[in-house]
Amino acid sequence: MAEFTMELNDEQKEVRDWLHGFAADVMRPAAAEWDEREETPWPIIQEAAKVGIYSLDFYANQYFDQTGLGLPMATEELFWGDAGIALSIMGTGLAAVGVLANGTNEQIGTWIPQMYGTPDDVKVAAFCSSEPDAGSDVAAMRTRAVYDEAKDEWVINGTKTWATNGGIANVHVVVAVVEPELGSKGHASFIIPPNTEGLSQGQKFQKHGIRASHTAEVVLDNVRVPGSCLLGGKEKLDERLARAREKAKKAGGERVKNAAMATFEASRPVVGAMAVGTARAAYDYALEYAKTRVQFGRPIIDNQGVAFQLADMRTSVDAARLLVWRASWMAVNGKPFNGAEGSQSKLFASETAKKVTAQAVQILGGNGFTREYPVERMHRDAAIYTIFEGTSEIQRLVIARTISGVHIR
Ligand SMILES: Cc1cc2nc3c(=O)[nH]c(=O)nc-3n(C[C@H](O)[C@H](O)[C@H](O)COP(=O)(O)OP(=O)(O)OC[C@H]3O[C@@H](n4cnc5c(N)ncnc54)[C@H](O)[C@@H]3O)c2cc1C
Repeated sequence: MAEFTMELNDEQKEVRDWLHGFAADVMRPAAAEWDEREETPWPIIQEAAKVGIYSLDFYANQYFDQTGLGLPMATEELFWGDAGIALSIMGTGLAAVGVLANGTNEQIGTWIPQMYGTPDDVKVAAFCSSEPDAGSDVAAMRTRAVYDEAKDEWVINGTKTWATNGGIANVHVVVAVVEPELGSKGHASFIIPPNTEGLSQGQKFQKHGIRASHTAEVVLDNVRVPGSCLLGGKEKLDERLARAREKAKKAGGERVKNAAMATFEASRPVVGAMAVGTARAAYDYALEYAKTRVQFGRPIIDNQGVAFQLADMRTSVDAARLLVWRASWMAVNGKPFNGAEGSQSKLFASETAKKVTAQAVQILGGNGFTREYPVERMHRDAAIYTIFEGTSEIQRLVIARTISGVHIR
């Protein structure tokens, strides 16, 4: 176990500077174009793959870094460059984590390389959990997976929505119901291999922000996958279901509610780090602008009304980063989230990003309101962080329940 530290080591500083260079030189100049095009920035993903940023190796190194700072540091730098492009680069990692966390060694070895492809032929992956009627209420999921014992195949039917990289992914990870009576405890995750018959893309969404990142519905119509595509394997699933049945029986047959909310605790700091990246980008831009924009014969930062805003912005960004680093360190070192620290970090960082980007728009005045300047895009991008991976209201619900022990609704 690593002690908690607030300082990056020399190696991490080197990685940070390298990522910052990529974010500043490759991502930032391309950001407005891909935002406008609303398309996956394949050439940038390919460039990231060529230099080694878009790869399992790179992601796994940060993910397993025992200090807990590697992943949030890398995420912050890339999202500082541009949120939409960064999500296109990191989206695959988020799907890969599902396999890393629950898959067998064989599944990890088979599927994760196919999620990334090669630098000459890059691929992306998607994680599909949300459904039209099951967003915050994960337990309301309806996509069904039924085991066909004779063929050792799973048959999956349903419609997923809001899937990042949905339909354009080489490999989809799909969460489905295997035992409806058990609520979210009766869910399991499946790999849908490339070119599987029955999987198709539904509507592609036109969005308010992170427009370079592809978001779409995924339709599963009698999709058949081999038994080996059940993440973790059948034996482990059967054991888990037996335990859940036992627990449900003890709870008087009451449906096991919202268990999935807690399982996100460890992944939420990553979204917090994305928000910190966007917030810092807007703060950096506004600070420089305020020093150079002259009104009434002096730079606007000479006014306390502007300078104090920047002071608050910087304080919030730093506070958000500290919460993210703490939760990330807890996650990698297996600390219990007794105060829902993962949710705290995501709640605070995402709300900070919304507020700080709005302040940046204000500091840039009319220019802040135009697409000539990047803070307008950052402000639109920031709105996603209080929505995906659990809305701010759901984070508050998780924190409130955790600290009180009361099943607050
Ligand atoms: C761009 C984008 C990318 C996404 N990527 C993915 C992805 O890759 N994979 C995936 O599976 N999903 C993804 N999502 C889905 C995302 O996680 C959901 O949108 C989110 O969980 C909210 O669900 P919902 O949209 O159905 O909102 P709803 O659950 O309908 O919520 C609507 C409003 O009601 C509030 N609310 C709901 N329940 C409560 C409650 N109990 N108490 C208080 N308030 C409540 C919410 O906070 C929210 O303000 C993505 C979404 C977007 C927009």
